[in-house]
Amino acid sequence: MVDGSLSKAHVRVESFDRSILRRAAKPGVPALDDFESPAEPLPFWRTKRLEELDRDEWESLCDRCGRCCLNKLEDEETGEIYWTNVACRLLDHASACCSSYPNRHDFVPDCIELDPDEVVSQTYTWLPPTCGYRLIAGGRDLMWWHPLVSGDPDTVHAAGISIRNRVISEVDVPEDRLEDHLVDWPGLVPDGTTLPPRS
Ligand code: SF4
Ligand code: SF4
Repeated sequence: MVDGSLSKAHVRVESFDRSILRRAAKPGVPALDDFESPAEPLPFWRTKRLEELDRDEWESLCDRCGRCCLNKLEDEETGEIYWTNVACRLLDHASACCSSYPNRHDFVPDCIELDPDEVVSQTYTWLPPTCGYRLIAGGRDLMWWHPLVSGDPDTVHAAGISIRNRVISEVDVPEDRLEDHLVDWPGLVPDGTTLPPRS
C-alpha cells in the first residue's frame, strides 16, 4: 500500500534544433577521427554546466523518452517514489511527446518545468536515471540512444527507453486506482546497459 501524493513532471521539446545533432557514424564510412585532422571540439553538453546552456541546448538535452510524464506516487513518510505506467492525459503514446506542449498548463497546471539548479541539487528525485538532464547533472555523458549522440530521434524508441506502446492514459484510470498500475521499469536502467562513467 502506498500512501502518497500524485505528481507529474515534464520537460520535453517541441522544436528540435537538428543543426546541433552530432553526425552518426555510418558503416563503411571512415570517421573523421580516422584522418589526421584537428580533433573535433567537444559537444556543448561536455563543456557547459546545465545553468550555462542556452534555450535550444537545454531543450535538446531531453531525449523524449516520456518517462517523466508518467504518474508517480510518493510515500509521504519516506519520500520513496513509486512509478506507474499511467501517462499524463496529454502524452502521445506513439511519439512519447506532449501533444499540447505550448499550452499544456491550460490542461495540466501541475506540469513541472525543470529548473537547472534543481536538477543539479537533485530535487527531482523522480527523474529516471537515463534522463539526459540527470546524466549531465551527475557529470556523465549522454547515452548512445540520445538523439544528440545518435543523430536520430528514433533511437530512443529503438533502444526500448521511451514509453512508446508501454503505457495507458490517466483518462482511463481513476486516481484512486493508480496503485494497481505500479511498475519498476521507468526508474531503472535497462538490463545490459551501463551508465557512462562520471567525468
Ligand atoms: S525523463 Fe528526462 S529525457 Fe526523458 S522525457 Fe523527461 S526530461 Fe526528457
Ligand atoms: S503536460 Fe505534457 S509535458 Fe507535462 S506531464 Fe503532461 S504530457 Fe508531459
